[in-house]
Amino acid sequence: MRVVPVPCLKDNYAYLVICEASKEAAVVDPSEAPPVLAAAAREGVRLRAVWNTHHHWDHVGGNEAIATENPGIEIVAHESDRSRVPGQTRGVTEGDRVSVGDVTAEIIHNPGHTSGAVSYVISEPRAVFTGDTLFGAGCGRVFEGTHAEMRASLDKLAALPADTAVYFGHEYTDKNLRFSSAAEPDNAAVKERHRRVQTVRAAGDPSVPSTIAEELDTNPFLRTASETIVSTLRERGESDTRGKDAVFAALRRWKDSF
Ligand SMILES: [Zn+2]
Repeated sequence: MRVVPVPCLKDNYAYLVICEASKEAAVVDPSEAPPVLAAAAREGVRLRAVWNTHHHWDHVGGNEAIATENPGIEIVAHESDRSRVPGQTRGVTEGDRVSVGDVTAEIIHNPGHTSGAVSYVISEPRAVFTGDTLFGAGCGRVFEGTHAEMRASLDKLAALPADTAVYFGHEYTDKNLRFSSAAEPDNAAVKERHRRVQTVRAAGDPSVPSTIAEELDTNPFLRTASETIVSTLRERGESDTRGKDAVFAALRRWKDSF
């Protein structure tokens, strides 16, 4: 299995998930078709599946044009998104498996950003495609769920093996790490990652993939037990910081206007 990030729109990533043996590929979140079709041609692979993480236009915008170019392609999204994902041919839910060639991914249902948000987990080699649920050093806004639901969704991803490569939906990592620094100024891992990401971005390269281990060390939304984060929130006037859900909600509200 090989993953090829495909930059789309302003700061989106689609991904080709390539089965090297059969030269077939799935594409995760094609926001637009042309760069995805060009990448597939460049790699010499046949597109056999679209794996959508959620219904937002900047993740599904290329579905129909890709289906026109690849008749019979399977288009996968959560079963509740059938009326919202263009061209969807298959509905999935927690624990289902999808595959392309000899590559298989298991579905994790991650309600919060949207009610039908899913991640695709591959175990060999370990990788997860998280859409707008888990970002590099951040998480998506909570549009269709509660803060508690979103935190529970992030907990499921945080429980994946530490060396799992994390492929997220947007290049927000540099900006997110500025927020990490504000929320947890004494976190040396945040400083180190921020320097590294700035170097990578200055060279024009993507900050994907990260790993679950890196996110556990530097992503404030996975660090709601941090005493520094709790005291930063108190200094900002948050009165309720009891429990992880309250800390998460306070962090998310702050980040929404950061
Ligand atoms: Zn979204």
